[in-house]
Amino acid sequence: DVGLGSWPWRRARITPERIALTRDDRTLTYADLAARTERLAAALIGAGVRAGDRVAYLGPNDIETFESLFATGLLGGVFVPLNTRLSAREIAYMLDDCAARVLVVAPTHHELVAALPSVPGDLLVVALEAPTCPIACTGYEQFLGAGDDSAEVFPPVGLDDPCLILYTSGTTGKPKGAILTHGNVTFNTINQLAHVDVLSTDKSLCLAPMFHVSGLGQITLPTLFKGGSVQPVPRFDAGEVLAAIDRERITGFSAVPTILQMLCEHPDFAGTDLSSLRYIVYGGSPVLERVATAWLDRGVQLLQGYGMTEAAAGVYMAIPDGAAEHPVSVGFPHFYTDVALETGDHTTPITPGTTGELLVRGANLFAGYWNRDEDTAASFTADGWFRTGDVVATGEDGWARVVDRVKDIIISGGENIYPAEVEAVLTRHPGVASAAVVAIPDNQWGEVGLAYVVTTGDTNLDAETITSYLAEHLARYKIPKHFRFVTDLPRNATGKIQRAQLRELAATTPD
Ligand code: AMP
Repeated sequence: DVGLGSWPWRRARITPERIALTRDDRTLTYADLAARTERLAAALIGAGVRAGDRVAYLGPNDIETFESLFATGLLGGVFVPLNTRLSAREIAYMLDDCAARVLVVAPTHHELVAALPSVPGDLLVVALEAPTCPIACTGYEQFLGAGDDSAEVFPPVGLDDPCLILYTSGTTGKPKGAILTHGNVTFNTINQLAHVDVLSTDKSLCLAPMFHVSGLGQITLPTLFKGGSVQPVPRFDAGEVLAAIDRERITGFSAVPTILQMLCEHPDFAGTDLSSLRYIVYGGSPVLERVATAWLDRGVQLLQGYGMTEAAAGVYMAIPDGAAEHPVSVGFPHFYTDVALETGDHTTPITPGTTGELLVRGANLFAGYWNRDEDTAASFTADGWFRTGDVVATGEDGWARVVDRVKDIIISGGENIYPAEVEAVLTRHPGVASAAVVAIPDNQWGEVGLAYVVTTGDTNLDAETITSYLAEHLARYKIPKHFRFVTDLPRNATGKIQRAQLRELAATTPD
């Protein structure tokens, strides 16, 4: 059994008394984590969950998120951590798409679960706080407690078995579930450890949400693999995080650039003792050089990673030796990850001084999109390379930078917004004839969406009306922050909207 679900008991065999997880005044040793994981897995089996079944989780990072992840893996199930910022419709779509058998829900999402327009027929809802849960459910502790940890024999889990489904919207607009196998997650962990000096004595914060693969993969799983301890952070608050670093002598965490910026611009930053921090791993979108410098000037080792959900997540990462001299570089390809450049009908190796669309292959590359063979096929070249859609430039010294995106995603505060998805909802409004959403720079979020809207002649349609309409269908962060009403959109000969032209227009004619 080489699955992720075996990690707690494998670690407990070596360091049972060391602390695996801490949150407020609750701590779990590796022995505790192994015992609770086995109980929960046994309870899930008792409830009819079998290898291959999907167990969804909706709630902020917490100890239970880890228990559910490992327990699902232990019985050969597939863990589906859902984005906590989505609307009820979006969540319902995902639960239905992956045909979830179980949904574990935190009290923060009771209202959302009560508002779900539909749920799969045989969905078992397990609530962390059952007494206040408005829909029929089983209490988490009671459910776990009923699991018989002495009798259950768990099926062997192999590296090619699916471990996680993570939803990513892609360019088609509809969310797609990327299937990550136990091998993908394991090799990503090995890859991270080849670049980052994680120690068994480390105490890391799990700050990035676990529904993003970077939240799990960059530091958290490598730390647990090494036997260090992890503190899940349910809600980001810059002042509290700085206080925790100081008080708890935190050694590292991973974050998106927006979070690094909020931390270093907080009034308490200057007075916070950062001497325990050995590294910060970050990535997901480009970082402002002044933000990187603010941390580097404080002597913190800052390692930028670049990757994507489909790569579980790392593709490139800086290394400690030279990171300070290359503040905005993503370093080198990961140990077990192969990279090449797309050059029309063939691929070329990456050498110093080259730039192009990056192709990726390797043990961390996903197993395809759930139930979407066509999308899966379209994301690979004929000879099996994954098309990233990102343009990567490699310097003469071998250090690489992400310079552009071929695709049109908007990255706002570390969240990806897919214009096609927003446009699809926009154009369903009876007053909207057509629409295009493009990224514009924003001081706080890095980028935000600007929507160009052509109305059907409804002159009463304004930004406020459209915003509240969008809020019914989409997560808040996906709603464009700016609107411009125009009479038509620039299109090419085949009718495709010319986004580059709109981006240029946005840049040259500010509000
Ligand atoms: P996701 O699947 O949500 O992790 O999004 C992956 C996309 O985020 C990549 O294809 C890139 O476009 C972008 N991205 C990830 N890391 C970086 C980085 N370090 N710099 C610039 N863009 C990044």
